[in-house]
Amino acid sequence: MSIDLEFDRKHIWHPYTSLTNPLPTYPVKSASGVEISLETGEVLVDGMSSWWAAVHGYNHPKLNQALVEQSQQMSHVMFGGLTHQPAVDLCKKLVELSPAGLEKVFLADSGSVSVEVAMKMAIQYWQSEHKADKHKFLTVRNGYHGDTFAAMSVCDPVNGMHTLFSKTINQHLFASAPSPIFPKNKNELDKADFDQAHLAEITQLLETNHHNIAAIIIEPIVQGAGGMRFYHPQYLTALRKLANQHNVLLIVDEIATGFGRTGKMFACEWAEITPDIMCVGKAITGGYMTLAATLTTTKVAEQICNGQAGVFMHGPTFMGNPLACSVANASLDLLIENNWQQQVANIETWLNQYLQPIADFTQVADVRVLGAIGVVELKEPVAMEQIQAFFVKQGVWIRPFGTRVYLMPPFISEEKHIRKLAGAIEAWLKK
Ligand code: PMP
Repeated sequence: MSIDLEFDRKHIWHPYTSLTNPLPTYPVKSASGVEISLETGEVLVDGMSSWWAAVHGYNHPKLNQALVEQSQQMSHVMFGGLTHQPAVDLCKKLVELSPAGLEKVFLADSGSVSVEVAMKMAIQYWQSEHKADKHKFLTVRNGYHGDTFAAMSVCDPVNGMHTLFSKTINQHLFASAPSPIFPKNKNELDKADFDQAHLAEITQLLETNHHNIAAIIIEPIVQGAGGMRFYHPQYLTALRKLANQHNVLLIVDEIATGFGRTGKMFACEWAEITPDIMCVGKAITGGYMTLAATLTTTKVAEQICNGQAGVFMHGPTFMGNPLACSVANASLDLLIENNWQQQVANIETWLNQYLQPIADFTQVADVRVLGAIGVVELKEPVAMEQIQAFFVKQGVWIRPFGTRVYLMPPFISEEKHIRKLAGAIEAWLKK
């Protein structure tokens, strides 16, 4: 039986789409390795990892096995008053892998929820310090942190269309997008010529408003959905210092960047910092299930628990879901087993090799690559329906937005896959 596309079109909302004038959706029959097979017969090389998540590709025998075995023990039990091996193993792994000092873990059900949790942690922390006025957040333009209300309030006000929700979302503080950009040549990273002028605006905002600021929240090094921008690690290093100087917490959102994507296990390692609170998600389960986590330091956790409530005030129904934790454990083991550093380094080399020549096309504003992320920034926004159909005909799955055609392929991709993905972008530009 084929998928009822008519029902899908008329009744089902897809991400950021219209129900009265929807763009086409492509029916997927199955997916395996780096390939997505459509019901209509096309087999597409995946360039998206299902939005940064499916790092080991699809239908992986070890991830399948983890799910099957766990389902035979228990698929779910409530986390209130109960605990289990998959959750304990996962939290141990997260504490071990994450920057030193992050020792306490809250398991959340999605990236957006882990951001809500992080923001609530920051607010409860300052309430416990009897500084309830510290309830605002400071962030940067071009950021993206999710679609729930608190997360949305710290997304870029223009991209995130704050005007639509302005009567409901809280107003926070925004500095310009971080700069300078990540140097194209990594050898230039250590040059000690970081111009402090890049920090002038955010420093000013901190000096004026620190009495009201609970935390700075930022995506480390890579701003994803808000622009696919890569910025200089020294900006983040400086932000860590500024947060300390002005007595505000630092939250980093590693939901997209975490688990190797930028060439470091966590992107904040580029800046050699430990944040006070860190959110992870997406690739944590290898793209199998929804799961995220918010990690924090002992100091923040103890302070929260010494406060008026005595507890941290959050507890979702599916917290610590054993299926999700088991597949996450298997996925994190696979990262190590597969030597993710080498996988990501190879992809980075191929992305550079096959995408950089595209920079010469007149329609192209910039080509940039970091780890297993490749971005072709165009001068004009793409016509979504046409480009999507073209890519499907070329046998690739690439989903651009605005002026950005970007690749974040599964780590198991081989050179021929990257060549094909980049070739399809080149073919579109030639057309
Ligand atoms: N933060 C960042 C940096 C993200 O890229 C995303 C998802 N695109 C989120 C938060 C929200 O995660 P989720 O979609 O799982 O709620």
